[in-house]
Amino acid sequence: MNILERYNAMDYGPAPEARNEADAWLAGRDFSRALFIGGVWAAAAGGRTFDVTEPSSGKLLAKVADAGTADIDAAVAAATKALPKWQASSGFARAKVLYAVGRAMQRHQRLLAVLESIDNGKPIRESRDIDVPLAIRHFIHHAGWAQSLDREFPGHKAAGVVGQIIPWNFPLLMLAWKIAPALAAGCTVVLKPAEFTPLTAILFAEICERAGVPKGVVNIVQGGPEAGAAIVNHSGIDKIAFTGSSEVGKIIRKATAGSGKKLSLELGGKSAFVVFEDADLDSAVEGLVDGIWFNQGQVCCAGSRLLVQEGVAEAFLAKVKTRMARLVVGSPLDKNTDIGPLVDQTQLDRVRGLVAEGARQGAVCWQPDARLPETGYFHLPTLATGVSPANILAQEEVFGPVLAAMTFRNTEEAVELANNTRYGLAASVWSENINLALHVAPQLEAGVVWVNGTNMFDAACGFGGYRESGFGREGGREGMYEYLVSKLPFGAVIKPAAADVAIAERPEAEAPAIDRTAKLFIGGKQVRPDGNYSLVVADRKGRFVGDVGLGNRKDIRDAVTAARAATRSWGEATAFNRSQVLYFLAENLSIRAEEFAGRIAVLTGVSAKAARAEVEASIERLFDYAGQADKFEGRVHQPPARAVALALHEPVGVVGIVAGDDMPLLGLVSLAGAALAMGNAVVAVPSQRYPLIATDLYQVIEYSDLPAGAINIVTGRSAELAGVLAKHDDVDGLWIVADAETCAKAEADSTGNLKRVWTTNGRSLDWNAVESDTLLRRAIEVKNVWVPYGD
Ligand code: NAD
Repeated sequence: MNILERYNAMDYGPAPEARNEADAWLAGRDFSRALFIGGVWAAAAGGRTFDVTEPSSGKLLAKVADAGTADIDAAVAAATKALPKWQASSGFARAKVLYAVGRAMQRHQRLLAVLESIDNGKPIRESRDIDVPLAIRHFIHHAGWAQSLDREFPGHKAAGVVGQIIPWNFPLLMLAWKIAPALAAGCTVVLKPAEFTPLTAILFAEICERAGVPKGVVNIVQGGPEAGAAIVNHSGIDKIAFTGSSEVGKIIRKATAGSGKKLSLELGGKSAFVVFEDADLDSAVEGLVDGIWFNQGQVCCAGSRLLVQEGVAEAFLAKVKTRMARLVVGSPLDKNTDIGPLVDQTQLDRVRGLVAEGARQGAVCWQPDARLPETGYFHLPTLATGVSPANILAQEEVFGPVLAAMTFRNTEEAVELANNTRYGLAASVWSENINLALHVAPQLEAGVVWVNGTNMFDAACGFGGYRESGFGREGGREGMYEYLVSKLPFGAVIKPAAADVAIAERPEAEAPAIDRTAKLFIGGKQVRPDGNYSLVVADRKGRFVGDVGLGNRKDIRDAVTAARAATRSWGEATAFNRSQVLYFLAENLSIRAEEFAGRIAVLTGVSAKAARAEVEASIERLFDYAGQADKFEGRVHQPPARAVALALHEPVGVVGIVAGDDMPLLGLVSLAGAALAMGNAVVAVPSQRYPLIATDLYQVIEYSDLPAGAINIVTGRSAELAGVLAKHDDVDGLWIVADAETCAKAEADSTGNLKRVWTTNGRSLDWNAVESDTLLRRAIEVKNVWVPYGD
């Protein structure tokens, strides 16, 4: 053999990572006492355990305590007991604890990485170079948020006792994403790791003991869905933070409806990896390997849908196949391994089943010619071509090493295909033309967009989804808000409308001779209600004042359609343009201030002075929103990478608003104005008791240059219309000021598309005391667009 032949024949030899430290750690513990509650290690009250196996061998690793309801009660009690002191401790004191945890993790960095790879099956290169360093960075980064809390988040306080439930794909990293911001905010936690992968969380609990985390501040309970459900349903918990499947996310949304628990959901994804013909194809191939085969594709934001421009598709797919053939499938503890086993036999069966079904539906599934290790839950990297947009491999989250490839002709088609999913977690855009990439990024309905890159994460940059990928963000400033509550100026308990006021229903035929029935306002026009019924409006003393249209399901549908169309004209208008329109709206309202004040006084019975003050406050609020429209904007993050992350504020989309009876003008203006300022289109259901205040606004709106459909007003019965809005899958956000039952029902009914619901939980608000920022923050989604730089 000459040198050249030897060179060409060279291959990777085995490079195993030593596991003796991890094995010694495993051998030295009694996992039947692995519940960490109130700083004490305990067995499950029922004495139950569950088996944890090693994905690469199927061997038993540990029999771990399986928490039941009594254990969750104990953990919540410990967290509740620890809360006052932790919350009252200085930001500096909490910062020191977070920093100490980060430093202690650094000292156990290698053990954490090896243990993670043994438990989960992920290649050691990933756990060593990505999972563990990022988890450490999270704790150290959040020390700074703890210390600067009062300065950075005025008017906010810790949410309280937090229940956190995490999945198995990034056991330690997801733990860090959950615990670090919670502790920084002053919350205490009950965290449940996934039942496949509890080991690094147990080591983490030991680290907490050593790092001086006060007893009861961090409680870690091992267990499965039953323990998870016990956390979700526990009345002592103030906030639930969940990462996992959309299916379980929806169960949790329903279960917490009406409970007043704050909720964040980080769910599944089906992210697009878009390659334009002017992309650097070799870089894009490397990105794709990372995008879909990182952690065997068991990544919520995996770039599992490849969209490649037609002209380069053939060449690109050929390069992908060549690269796939060189991916090393093998032991997760080998430093050369690219692809380890899936986490469990059930996951392997699921992936195989989806691939078979995809093939049955017409996909051509290609795998490299490689041998799988003899034991373990391995699956070869798989490329599916000939995939129609409706194919199961293009629609369902496979959560395995399976890539579905499709082609597109032009930019519009790329955007349309990328958004053709019920998820909205992440996307990658590849093009050497930065103008094109930054033109496409805002059009992608996803919480994170990577330009010429993929899977970039950082503690300072928010991560989280749109649509069925859930709501809430983890990381950075926006992630901190998830563990804080603003001190809203709540007022009286709202009684259900029907019991409260005597509003009779009567057919329009019985209306007075001079028709004074106010219509609905949909798509920029005053229209009759679909059912042709009206509601009688009485003043405070029960005297007849007028009629308004009785909106129904069909009217809401029409209003949502009009609003959706306006998300283009209004949502894409410049912030300065929106600002001017809102100023004009305020100006036009001020011209008719006397008339509105008179109307408010007659209807609600407040004094003339109070009525004038409400109108003045409404004008001032519109001015404020007009001013903020071009100022309440995003930031630029400088993560520790050669990249900037643009945290853009985007409108939520179509926002449904159900306003209450208290201060009917100021309430409606405060809610709708915030949504409009940020570029949302609104479907508003005004006060059921005093709807004429809203119908009087029609003319003000008509004179104010708001595009048709930007605001739609449907009068009628609030509870019924709130229900229709909650169930409507084209409504993205819903804000409700109503009685407790209406609020709870709306939350429960919102699971179809996991819309962002915010309610006052049956309480009225003192609108004079509500800060604009509180509402503006609800009117936006933060999208992080990562743009790398350098050669
Ligand atoms: P899963 O929803 O089955 O389980 C997640 C966690 O919820 C586990 O701890 C489980 O024990 C618990 N659980 C199950 N049923 C429950 C119930 N009824 N009530 C309360 N808790 C319950 O998900 P999984 O299979 O473990 O994880 C994979 C999913 O996680 C994928 O869909 C993936 O996309 C998602 N994920 C999302 C992100 C993100 O940030 N968006 C990150 C990682 C994973």
